[in-house]
Amino acid sequence: EHYLQRIEATRHLNAFIDVYAEEALQKAKDLDAKRSNGATMGRLHGVVIGLKDVICYEGHKVSAASKILRDFTSIYSATAVIRLLEEGAIIIGNLNCDEFAMGSTNENSSYGKVLNARDESRIPGGSSGGSAVAVQAGLCMVSLGSDTGGSVRQPADLCGIVGMKPSYGRISRYGLIAYASSFDQIGVFGTNIPDVAILFEVMAGADEYDSTVSHQPVEAYASLLQTDKKYRIAYLAEALDHPSLDPEIASAIKNLAEKLKEQGHEVEPVAFKLIDHIVPAYYVLTTAEASSNLSRFDGIKYGYRSKAEGLDLNELYKESRSAGFGREVKRRIMLGTFVLSAGYYDAYFTQAQKVRKLLVDQTQQIFNNFDVILLPTTPSTAFRIGEKMEDPIAMYLADIYTVMANLAGIPAISLPLFTHSNGMPFGLQVMTKRFDELSLLRFSEQVM
Ligand code: GLN
Repeated sequence: EHYLQRIEATRHLNAFIDVYAEEALQKAKDLDAKRSNGATMGRLHGVVIGLKDVICYEGHKVSAASKILRDFTSIYSATAVIRLLEEGAIIIGNLNCDEFAMGSTNENSSYGKVLNARDESRIPGGSSGGSAVAVQAGLCMVSLGSDTGGSVRQPADLCGIVGMKPSYGRISRYGLIAYASSFDQIGVFGTNIPDVAILFEVMAGADEYDSTVSHQPVEAYASLLQTDKKYRIAYLAEALDHPSLDPEIASAIKNLAEKLKEQGHEVEPVAFKLIDHIVPAYYVLTTAEASSNLSRFDGIKYGYRSKAEGLDLNELYKESRSAGFGREVKRRIMLGTFVLSAGYYDAYFTQAQKVRKLLVDQTQQIFNNFDVILLPTTPSTAFRIGEKMEDPIAMYLADIYTVMANLAGIPAISLPLFTHSNGMPFGLQVMTKRFDELSLLRFSEQVM
């Protein structure tokens, strides 16, 4: 009831798309009865969770915030959702986001923009803007997002909360609407590390419905958080000296690095010459994958279909897709189709794959000598609504610090440690090697 009231009182933030009020209350009552009867309680007994509108929940609408999927109802639940429900979670509703998770501001949604609760004239970040604001404004305890190139960490940073993206292949993608399949991961928003850890622990692990998910055993992260271990910490020199970075963010992170050194950690700068190549590589590869993934939305199998009469099949596809997809999604489908086309494949797609391979190798090398990498999450604090909408390149370039983890498949988290002189929060980004979420969470718990 508390969360439902909060949601009603903050409707103008536009974080939720649908709220499952009656169903959630009923579930809460059932769980309460279960507890009174002395039944064993799940690890998430009564935990109130919101889902980004790209995650399927059987019998509930899911649209990736797109007109093309308006009024589509999921016929099955994502594996991650099933696991949450099995542990007693209450799903309270689905959350606004950028259409098909493409964007960094939550301004590309067919349901309209989401407001940052800290300052309502500013963007909350994206693409999981609704998921971030839902936790920021106390509309649910924790929420799920998806992170293809920063969509959990960046809005967490801009909203002043914790946002974690696991290693690629740690959580099943079954039931997650695909944007770029070799990058996408479900991620978690919360206000503290123990909450994020327990949710992650419940969802992680092998799943027969996703062949890319790892069979490595899942650790009991939430009960292993406390440690006074001293870490070997690397920060990326070129990243902190980058001209696009707000100097106040750079100095906050440098100061923190100093402080960690004084506390007995080993802290050193490492060179990272690839910095200016990773955003272009990311946008070539993700638009290519997206152009293929989104070809299923043809107006025939499901979703929006043009009502125009007398169309042949190709015209029907064209009319439905032209009206169903928003501007940014169309831009990316066109970019992706272009970089995959016969004459340009080697010049763009193959080159981008090479950059990805170099990045994977260089990241691995860093982790031969270090346990964690520190970076900013974003180059600036949350900007004003509308400020960057007309400049997609500038918007893409702001993903400079987040795309690395997705290109390399490593886990990463944004921790709300700082406040800017403009009053807005910003975070520290931490990364560890692939499947070392335990160190990621332990280190985070130490610095939080
Ligand atoms: N801003 C990035 C993009 O638009 C990241 C999106 C995401 O992680 N889903 O692609």
